[in-house]
Amino acid sequence: MTKANILLVEDNKPQAKVIKNYLEKNGYHVVCVEDGMAAFKAAKTSAVDIILLDRILPDMDGSEVCRWLKLDQSTRDTPIIMLTAKGAMSDKISGLEAGADDYLPKPFDESELNVRIFARLRTKTHQDELKKKNRQLEDMLTRVESLAIMDPLTGIYNRRRFESIFTNEFKRASRYQLPLTCMMIDIDHFKLINDAHGHQEGDAVLKEIARIIQSTIREVDTPARWGGEEFVVLSPNTNKEKALLAAERLRKAVAGHAFARTETKKVTISIGVAGIPDPSLDSQDKMIHAADLAMYEAKKNGRNRVESA
Ligand code: GH3
Ligand code: MG
Ligand code: MG
Ligand code: MG
Repeated sequence: MTKANILLVEDNKPQAKVIKNYLEKNGYHVVCVEDGMAAFKAAKTSAVDIILLDRILPDMDGSEVCRWLKLDQSTRDTPIIMLTAKGAMSDKISGLEAGADDYLPKPFDESELNVRIFARLRTKTHQDELKKKNRQLEDMLTRVESLAIMDPLTGIYNRRRFESIFTNEFKRASRYQLPLTCMMIDIDHFKLINDAHGHQEGDAVLKEIARIIQSTIREVDTPARWGGEEFVVLSPNTNKEKALLAAERLRKAVAGHAFARTETKKVTISIGVAGIPDPSLDSQDKMIHAADLAMYEAKKNGRNRVESA
């Protein structure tokens, strides 16, 4: 165990010396300062576990010091025990009002001081541990949440997330009779890229294609990695004619792209487009299936093509 650090703010030197000696005997590390300004500085710049604060200081009132320490982000969690020569109730109240955690009238019994310090330190350790645990939990939650919705390789939505967005959009589009289209995108001869240059190269190409898709589509469209070397894009409020134009634009963008950081210089994609309104596509599964079939048509018809369902 490392020693707990106590900041003692006391302008009466003989008294400060007595308290310091006693606390050091009890295993604490003690830093003494004599006025409010020095107290701020010490509290902000060194790792202080608890502050013993005299009520009357040469430059300002102890409760003023207390108020400032409790306002400052970096010192607000450090427990403060106010020490005062006066035993008056009004002093006690002003100290506690200023945010002191405890109050000890002088002259005090040394063992009583020790008990109070111990109690405050215990609470602080407990709170620090709780805070640390909370932070760890939050970090973990964020990681788990993003794992659940993001494709780790390309950083765009995964299939699960896409499907839940699709469900909502499909309902909305059917209900308000708005057009909705989806593209199924498959990289042509992707296996050859892996075979020729290795899996890492394949991964780099996947990332770059995801980036091209993102930069080519509209902000309201949702791109996602469907799986393997297949991507999907959902376009709300878009009829098939417009979606076909967008798909053609994307096809060209990929075909014309120089994959600068990879050995693979040219890559092409095949795209199938399906959309509603269409009486035969009365569910989102049917719509995806139709886009998939159209994509296979594009493969059959020579790849690097767009086909409509
Ligand atoms: P086609 O034009 O008919 O689509 O040919 P293709 O080679 O693209 O199709 P195929 O389905 O035969 O091969 C897809 C390949 O994609 C096979 C698989 O190893 C590779 N693949 C799937 N996921 C990943 C991945 O995350 N990283 C890499 N590097 N390759 C992947
Ligand atoms: Mg495929
Ligand atoms: Mg394939
Ligand atoms: Mg493929």
